[in-house]
Amino acid sequence: MSVTEQKHEVHDSKVLDWAKDIIDKSPSNRLVADEVLNAVNRNKVWRGDECLNLLAPEAPTSPLVRDLLSSEVGTRAAEGHIGRMERWFAGTQYIDEIEALCMELLKKAFNVNYADHRLVASMIGNMTVYSAMAEPGDHIMSLSQPYGGHSSNRNDGPAGIRGVNIHDVPMDGHELTVDLNEFERVARDVKPQLVSLGASMTLFPLPVKEISEIVKPWGGKVFFDGAHQLGLIGAGLFQDPLKEGADIITGSAGKTFSGPQSGIILWDDPELTEPITDTIFPTLAATHQVNRVAALAVAAAEFIEFGHDYMSQIVKNAKALAAALENEGIPVLGAHKGYTETHQVIADVSQYGGGYDVANQLAEANLIVNKNLIPQDRPEDWDTPSGLRIGTTEVTRLGMYEKDMQDIAKLIADVVKGNDTVGNVKQRVMNIRREHQTLYYCYR
Ligand SMILES: *Cc1c(COP(=O)(O)O)cnc(C)c1O
Repeated sequence: MSVTEQKHEVHDSKVLDWAKDIIDKSPSNRLVADEVLNAVNRNKVWRGDECLNLLAPEAPTSPLVRDLLSSEVGTRAAEGHIGRMERWFAGTQYIDEIEALCMELLKKAFNVNYADHRLVASMIGNMTVYSAMAEPGDHIMSLSQPYGGHSSNRNDGPAGIRGVNIHDVPMDGHELTVDLNEFERVARDVKPQLVSLGASMTLFPLPVKEISEIVKPWGGKVFFDGAHQLGLIGAGLFQDPLKEGADIITGSAGKTFSGPQSGIILWDDPELTEPITDTIFPTLAATHQVNRVAALAVAAAEFIEFGHDYMSQIVKNAKALAAALENEGIPVLGAHKGYTETHQVIADVSQYGGGYDVANQLAEANLIVNKNLIPQDRPEDWDTPSGLRIGTTEVTRLGMYEKDMQDIAKLIADVVKGNDTVGNVKQRVMNIRREHQTLYYCYR
């Protein structure tokens, strides 16, 4: 056996072999570089111009934000905190200005005492929380994956790496919220130092206030992982976890907030400032991509200006899409509670072949969604879950309203139920996409 045959590979080896073949056969490295550019362009034409992207964690950044991501400042190093004495490198005075503007804009956007702008991903924000607010051996509680829990708060993510003992937050699968009686029973028994709320599948607010009161007697803290809901929280359209008793929030800047992909962390309590900030630097961030910080600052300014209108249309569109899907015969979670209070719609497609097959069929018709575990699934159904998660952030920024959601529901249903060929639906999607070329809710 050759060395390559023995090598264990977690990635799909067919795709790696495709790349290796191009590199091996190419007469020049320049041509290999061109292959990278070609793949980027293929994605831009398809995903950028021809698809309806309904992935809940995505958002199209404004033209200004996108331009800033390739700015000169992105080649500069600026380890440390804001201010000349706080930096290792000289020459950072303009970088200090960019970072200070970003931090103050974030504080204004979320109405909080403290924010940090140096997290290159929200995963790093969650690692910050588990490093600064938990010790190895501590007990924490978080949501399991079938209820939307994210790996970062479970054994296979930052929480697990920190060596904490993780207990499930008991959930009510029908109400899609915490089962408070059960929570109180488990929490009194376990006495968690930290309870992590918030989820990747998120339709309704969670009882942050009640939970923070339950864990207060033994000094338990509440962490809200608002990766998805961040924009909705900032716009005052979802619960405001910090005002309801949570101690800290993390969020993804590239999800509903619609900024550059990265992380945001927010808190009010001055006692947390040192542990959190000292964990970010020097533990988890060094060269933190100042181009991204500049883009984040502009995204925050745009958010303060347009966020409320933008986020409220996202939620209206999600409600309209959910109702329209159910009209088409596709069951949607949370019907008895108005389907959703976020950008997400969760459909149960178990009767149509399950989430994996349906998501792939839809992608062939240029409708991009993701397979998702839903409460009836087990964690080990990860690869072939029953649900679909659909998000309205991108189509809303492209200027679509409730009536357009009827059309999208029809397109999805025509694929799922086989009412039209995938090829025809794809053509119909491209026609709709062509009519929506402008990004709204941003500066020009
Ligand atoms: C997406 C997500 C994350 C990770 O965020 P990144 O910005 O992609 O690192 C963390 N927690 C939850 C609940 C998420 O949905």
